[in-house]
Amino acid sequence: MNLSSENFPPRPAWTEIDLGKLRRNLQLIRGDLPKNVQLMAVVKDEAYGHGALDVVRIAVEEGAWGFGLSTLEEAMTLRDAGITAPLLLLGERQEAELEWCVAHNLTVCVNEPNVVRSLAKIAVKFGKKIPVHVKIHTGMSRYGVRWDEALPLIDKIVAEKSLSLEGVMTHFSQSDETEKGFANLQFARFNEVLQAMEQKKISIKLRHTCNSGGFLDLPHTHLDMVRVGILLYGVFPSLVCRKIPGIEPVMSVKAKIAAIQKLKPGEVVGYGMRYTATSERRIAILPIGYGDGFPRVRNEGCALIHGKRAPILGGIAMDALMVDITEIPAAQLWDEAVLMGKQGGEEITVRDIAKLKNSVTYDVLTSWRLRLRRKSVNGETKLFHKKESKTVLSADE
Ligand SMILES: *Cc1c(COP(=O)(O)O)cnc(C)c1O
Repeated sequence: MNLSSENFPPRPAWTEIDLGKLRRNLQLIRGDLPKNVQLMAVVKDEAYGHGALDVVRIAVEEGAWGFGLSTLEEAMTLRDAGITAPLLLLGERQEAELEWCVAHNLTVCVNEPNVVRSLAKIAVKFGKKIPVHVKIHTGMSRYGVRWDEALPLIDKIVAEKSLSLEGVMTHFSQSDETEKGFANLQFARFNEVLQAMEQKKISIKLRHTCNSGGFLDLPHTHLDMVRVGILLYGVFPSLVCRKIPGIEPVMSVKAKIAAIQKLKPGEVVGYGMRYTATSERRIAILPIGYGDGFPRVRNEGCALIHGKRAPILGGIAMDALMVDITEIPAAQLWDEAVLMGKQGGEEITVRDIAKLKNSVTYDVLTSWRLRLRRKSVNGETKLFHKKESKTVLSADE
């Protein structure tokens, strides 16, 4: 028997990532986009908690141009795994990070004259001409150079022989709500910059503005590329945005019943005695809690067991929560429960969990803790060989 520390039985609580659904979502998104608009898959924060490497391998096969990331570490992990597709770091870089970016062929946004100069020098040192993108802040007031101050910076980049201005981008503060007035104002500001560049005969390969909301609802702003994150993972950015039929959530959260208890009238459940039985009850204990990222609720929310809703009783603990299975007599020890996702005809959506957490779907996807472990299913790939992660291919090899 192999009792090595890598070979222990998996914990009876996990996140399940259906890579077949991810592939289908990518195909539906790609099919919805005009041929001449590129798709950047946004895979920051471990692909919104889905596992960046698995997502990248499938997105390369489904025709993504490249990938949007947040940190240097995220990007280098993908390079180390053999991914050669373009990787764009979306935020700001510290000066000290620039050499690594050049050495590992990571594309950065340059939004500041000092960074332009430093990056140009480093590129010369490495004997490279490197692509860069400029992020233009058009009203979001986060990263980027102001739209009305962008041209001098763009001139500086164009003047550097070791840099090539590949992309110009902006980001919408509100793209997935019914009111599109501010998004249109932002787009008008962005267009002012593009027009000024055109007058100076500065040509750009990739002009991009859209996140998932913009991709769905602002087709006149697609330009050369869209940056899609949450929709890849099967979650629509809002209730009011356009829907593409067939897009389905990729992530589920599951656990197995680890104990069953009987309650007599008057008996209580959990810390703080937040639930008191008024009649005889049968309850199941699921080995998952707020230490795994489940919202810290009391007498709210449910799990799906045998395709039925089992309400949460009492307050949830770090490692356990209790659900009422009185109405599900067939439920047995070690039966599977679904905390997020589908079972039978029932579904607990990412948005349902977001409500319990008083937060947004993005936060729910990225908050599941790694001690849950990810179990990827339906992840067969054509180009990539799982076991030989150092020799994976890119789309153009
Ligand atoms: C995260 C991010 C996106 C993706 O947003 P979604 O709403 O998840 O599609 C796009 N662009 C930038 C700059 C981002 O930071």
